[in-house]
Amino acid sequence: MRTDDVTALLLYEDFIEQAEYELKKHAGKKLVMITMDFSNFNYINNMYGYKEGDKLLRQAADEFIRGSRGFLCGCRMYSDHFAALFEHDNHNDWLQMLTVNRGDYLRDTRTKFAATFLQLYIGIYFWEPGVSVKKAIDKANIARKMVKGNHREPVCVYLPEYENKYFKDAEMIALLKRSVADDNVVVLLQPKISLETGEVIGAEALARLRGTDGKVYLPADFIPTLESVGYITALDNAVLRKVIKLLREWKDKGYGLVPISVNWSYPHFLHSTLAKDLKALVDGGGVDPKYIEFEITERMFTTDLDTVIPILKEMREEGFEISVDDFGSGYSSFNVMGILPVDTIKIDKGFLDSCFNNEKGKQLIQGVIDVIKKVKLQMVCEGVETKEQADMLKAFGCANVQGYLYDKPLSLEAFEAKYMKK
Ligand code: C2E
Ligand code: MG
Ligand code: MG
Repeated sequence: MRTDDVTALLLYEDFIEQAEYELKKHAGKKLVMITMDFSNFNYINNMYGYKEGDKLLRQAADEFIRGSRGFLCGCRMYSDHFAALFEHDNHNDWLQMLTVNRGDYLRDTRTKFAATFLQLYIGIYFWEPGVSVKKAIDKANIARKMVKGNHREPVCVYLPEYENKYFKDAEMIALLKRSVADDNVVVLLQPKISLETGEVIGAEALARLRGTDGKVYLPADFIPTLESVGYITALDNAVLRKVIKLLREWKDKGYGLVPISVNWSYPHFLHSTLAKDLKALVDGGGVDPKYIEFEITERMFTTDLDTVIPILKEMREEGFEISVDDFGSGYSSFNVMGILPVDTIKIDKGFLDSCFNNEKGKQLIQGVIDVIKKVKLQMVCEGVETKEQADMLKAFGCANVQGYLYDKPLSLEAFEAKYMKK
């Protein structure tokens, strides 16, 4: 049998052959197939060199794969993707053993590669009768892709209902990849308006995807999928690149610029060099960072403050603006205002709606506006649809608003024609 130089696991073809042999040999016994891969593996190679990357793979093979109970055979399929076959006596016991091993292995590796937050995504398929080795790998992969990019639940056991979702997700992911590659991600801009002057003080960039049949997909159609498979950052990056290009064009046309915000999802913050990378990107695009704002959701702060806060600080030091999106949408903690290095709080549409129609609610809105002012942050209230809402917000001292009352998200051309002035 031939083995891989780096990990000393079998080569793919030999693994299939060996697994088929084990399948016959263990007829009637309980078997399980796993597939796994790392997050940010390229990053390890780039940051620490290929030698260290190889060592990491070798350790994964030795400590995690061979070191897990019931190991029969395994292979590195390609790059950082592995498959392995195990025997087990009890579904839950074996799963627990694997989870513990995974934790031990990752703890050691993360200490070593501290510049990036390494994650190991694992798909697990507990064998059913009549299933071939290759089909078992497919099923383990379907489970793995269910959690790819989901740093909170990175291990998944295959269920038949994942197959449908998998194909739908695959279509959306293919559409995103095509849109990114062809520079076809549609970016719309929705103005943010000062209640005092009525002037535009900024805009939010909002993404749409366009299918080959011309159908336009809204964020609700694709964001959850992209988040769950780890492609959301590719979308954010595509939107950011468009925004940088646009700002540069508008600068060259001699317009007075306003900051444009992009929605910036959590996984970006797993890269400790985020702030520097972003600065290099805007410098390369010839745009002042003060015109770029990152909207992060307050949900982010319920988990991983130690990772996020230092990076936010650096981003602000580089000159970017940070705002907290969807404040009041359900995860609210006034903590975010006290300890977070941010510039702006965006009050959520849902909060406005639920509070607008009753006295207590109105007092709550007033209270939130007062607190934001007290801690000297800026504010934007989102989803303002009626004049009554705008009047109330103005009376309460809310500085800025965004919503259909002023404009829906506009095409870049429409936004330019309506709002950009020399
Ligand atoms: P968000 O960041 O809170 O954006 C505001 C959403 O509210 C937008 O929906 C906007 O069109 C909508 N909106 C604004 N004013 C009104 C109003 O008066 N009435 C109503 N009914 N809706 C209003 P959209 O464009 O569908 O985006 C939904 C969410 O998708 C965004 O919420 C954001 O969380 C996410 N999203 C959009 N583009 C991106 C992106 O490029 N990256 C990431 N990570 N998320 C994105
Ligand atoms: Mg937003
Ligand atoms: Mg929002």
